[in-house]
Amino acid sequence: MRRHLQLILPLFVLAGLIAGCGPKAVRSDGGSSRPLVQRTPIAPPVIKAQKPAELANPWKPEKGKRDWRHIVIHHTASSRDSVDSINQAHLKRGWEGVGYHFVIGNGNGMADGEIEPTFRWKTQMHGAHAGNEEYNQHGIGICLVGNFEDTHPSAAQLAAVKRLVGVLKTQYEIKSANVVGHKTVKSTACPGKHFPLTEVSQSEVLPFVVGGADATELHLLAAEGSQVR
Ligand SMILES: [Zn+2]
Repeated sequence: MRRHLQLILPLFVLAGLIAGCGPKAVRSDGGSSRPLVQRTPIAPPVIKAQKPAELANPWKPEKGKRDWRHIVIHHTASSRDSVDSINQAHLKRGWEGVGYHFVIGNGNGMADGEIEPTFRWKTQMHGAHAGNEEYNQHGIGICLVGNFEDTHPSAAQLAAVKRLVGVLKTQYEIKSANVVGHKTVKSTACPGKHFPLTEVSQSEVLPFVVGGADATELHLLAAEGSQVR
């Protein structure tokens, strides 16, 4: 038996060397029982491999695409509102629900600067916001909570609407001239004299840089769904 082992053991050692599974875990501390300190550097945020176009538009609907030609900006003419409250109000008018495609909160009812796409956007359905057939059928309706005849949009709302308009303009090839206030297409004060329409209509998204700070942020936005704060 002893002789038998003497023959077999060297074979095991040889097999181990061939298979490359020789001793690897050599401890630099001399083999004491003290646990090794892991000196792993802090990893940068992981960005999943996605196409730039997908990253650049966190509001891209899952399927379908409508022939969008315009963007129409509105205000609620109220100090407090949300997608839910507007939806209830528009249902009472006999509509199929909230008439806008996006609502941007002001901190009363929704978070300040929060962008929420409505069912009309998710299903790429026509809007019920312009009082004008062309603009209801082919206009993306964006409504900001607030009364901009009396007050200005918050800084967060302004940043949010500019980002949203910039992304939508790029995605659907809509020119700045086709980003209009409700009052441009119908006799109304909406979105109010304090809304900086020209500034917002000229919003642009910068060319997408993979791996940049913006990419990380946009990825996070995409992961969260739609919220911009
Ligand atoms: Zn309006």
